[in-house]
Order: sequence, then structure tokens, then C-alpha cells
Amino acid sequence: MPLLLVTGGAGFIGGNFVLRAIAAGHDVINLDKLTYAGNLATLAAVKQSPNHHFVQGDIGDRACVSNLLATYRPHAIVNFAAESHVDRSIDGPAAFVETNVVGTLALLECARDYWRSLPEAQAGQFRFLHVSTDEVFGSLGTEGKFQEMTPYAPNSPYSASKAASDHLVRAFHHTYGLPTVTTNCSNNYGPFQFPEKLIPLTIQKALRGEELPVYGDGMNIRDWLFVEDHCEAIDAALFKGRCGETYNIGGDAERTNIDVVRTLCRLLDERRPRGGASYEAQIRFVKDRPGHDRRYAIDATKLKSELGWKPRHGFEDGMARTVDWYLAHPSWVDAILDGSYRMERLGV
Ligand code: NAD
Repeated sequence: MPLLLVTGGAGFIGGNFVLRAIAAGHDVINLDKLTYAGNLATLAAVKQSPNHHFVQGDIGDRACVSNLLATYRPHAIVNFAAESHVDRSIDGPAAFVETNVVGTLALLECARDYWRSLPEAQAGQFRFLHVSTDEVFGSLGTEGKFQEMTPYAPNSPYSASKAASDHLVRAFHHTYGLPTVTTNCSNNYGPFQFPEKLIPLTIQKALRGEELPVYGDGMNIRDWLFVEDHCEAIDAALFKGRCGETYNIGGDAERTNIDVVRTLCRLLDERRPRGGASYEAQIRFVKDRPGHDRRYAIDATKLKSELGWKPRHGFEDGMARTVDWYLAHPSWVDAILDGSYRMERLGV
């Protein structure tokens, strides 16, 4: 089975990907800086696995990355490592440029040098898969969907830094021939998501009896995908995708933010009823985020027709699984929300 160097594998999507990869029999070297968003509790199930090797380190640390590549000689690199929260990028964009742009450049240079050192047969099989977002495409009107050829128009420091990293990956393929694949995915939800993002934040605040903040008029639309479906799509792109290509990933599940919050309230009303009063009574509309993109929607036709992927979970099913998971794992939330990071400081 292929040996993978996964970066950011203690985060939300990377953690889900690592757990699945180990279960599928892969060996994984997991390089993660363990920022506030990284959590070893996510990896508890593979702590004893001989197939999982965790290394705390920075993708921008060339010596560390080169050493890992020379020591373990992976068949592929899957790059999840990033600063990922739009609100934080508005408060402090520098960290986003540091990891998402400068860090990705360092990782690409190390990958290129390692790939060049490989025997021809192994070099031909090597892949650098870069995990990116649909936010690089900017905001849609009421019609249309993002396609792979949609021009980039990032509107937040987060999406601008991801766009820059995508361009670097593209340039390393065209300039040096590095066998890259880039995926651009819509909003994910599911187990192990840091509770600053809309869905886990809403669940936690609802259960604590706090106000449920919704930006602006709540009519911003996102195209939601269950995280396990994203991980399956990455598998497909990694093992079957064509070098130098980009693949859009989405769940055909457009919902307004207020719809998402109301769905969560309904699922909680069914599972944790509170004396007849719906959790919806806790919803509060708050001042909008600056530069808040109005609508994202993904056309994943290329991935579906070329690589045979399709999502296994509809929105209702995925949301129910997500709520059930958070209700069943309060200790995971406690582990990530340690004393230095309190719920009151979190925003959507
Ligand atoms: P996350 O914030 O939950 O996890 C990021 C992980 O990267 C953390 O474990 C963190 O410790 C690690 N990390 C940060 N800086 C690092 C560095 N310099 N070196 C090594 N590790 C570092 O993010 P996520 O939601 O899991 O997103 C993963 C990737 O998927 C990101 O690249 C993001 O842009 C992309 N993406 C996310 C979504 C989404 O809805 N969450 C959608 C599409 C694409």
C-alpha cells in the first residue's frame, strides 16, 4: 500500500482523511504544527497504530520536511496544512500568508527536490495533492456554479492566500514537471471540526443555551459536503486524477446559512428536547462579516465523469450524523476547548 506524507492531519479534514487512510491499510506520516486548530485527540483511534507516525512540525521548515521525505520516502504528499478560518484572516492576514503561501512554497520545493531524486519508475507514480477551496473563485450571483476554468477572484485574505498557493502548485507542475493535482472543495461539515466554524459552533452554543449568531440576513449560500465524501473525492483525485489537473468537489447541497442553523435546531429539538421551546428561539442576526461572499456553488461534473466519484451522503443524512457525533463526543470538544481558548472568543 502507498505510504503518504499528510500535512495538517491533526485538523478537521486532514484528521478525517488520516483515520480513513489508516483504516484502508496505508502508512501515514502525519506532519502537523498543532496550531490552535490541530488536535491530537482527533487521532486517538490511531495512536497505537504502527502505520501512523505523527510528527509535530511546520510545512515551512525545509530541514524538517526534507528529512521526513528522505527518511520515509513517501509515494505521495497530501497537503491539508493551512490557516483556514476567514474571520481570523480578517483580524490577522500575515499568518495566512506565512503558512498558506510561504509554507506551501517550501513544501513544494522540498517535494520537487525529493521527486527529482527518485528512480524513474517511482518518480512516475509520485503525486503532490494540494487541498484547496472553492472560495478562491469569489462570489456567485443567483445563477451559475464554479467550474475548474472559472477565473480566480478571492475576496478574503484567507481565500487570497489559498489562491496564491494554488497558483504556486500550478507553476511547479508547468515549470518543473512536478506531478501535482489540486482539488477545490466547497464547505465541509462533520466530525472533528474546530468549534469556531458555523456548524459545530451552533451545536455547542445551542446546547449551552447561548445565542446562535447568524451573519447579516442569514441568506448567504454555501454548497455543503459531508467530510467523508470530501475524503473519498481526495482519494479518487490522488490515485486516479490526471497530473497537472484541478478537480472541483461539491455536494450539490446549496443552503442558506439560516437554513443550516434551523436544520441544526430541528435536529437538536428531536434529540435533546428542552421543555417544548425550540433551539430556534436562540437565533440572533449579527453584523455581517466584511467582504462576505454571497453565494458559492460547485459544478463537480469533471470529478464525477472522469473519476467516478459521487457523494454518499445527502445534506439531511450528513447533518444528522454530524449532530449525533457531537452529542456522542463531548469529551472531544472539551479536549479542543482547553482553558486557553474559551467559547466566548469564538465567532462564526
Ligand atoms: P483546520 O484549520 O481544521 O486544520 C488545519 C491543520 O493544519 C491543523 O491541524 C493545523 O495545526 C495544521 N497547520 C496549520 N499551519 C501549519 C503549518 N505551518 N505546518 C503544518 N501544519 C499546520 O482546517 P480544515 O478545515 O481541516 O482544512 C484543511 C484544508 O482544506 C485547508 O487547506 C483548507 O483550506 C481546505 N478546505 C477546507 C474546507 C472546509 O470547509 N473546512 C473546504 C475546502 C477546503
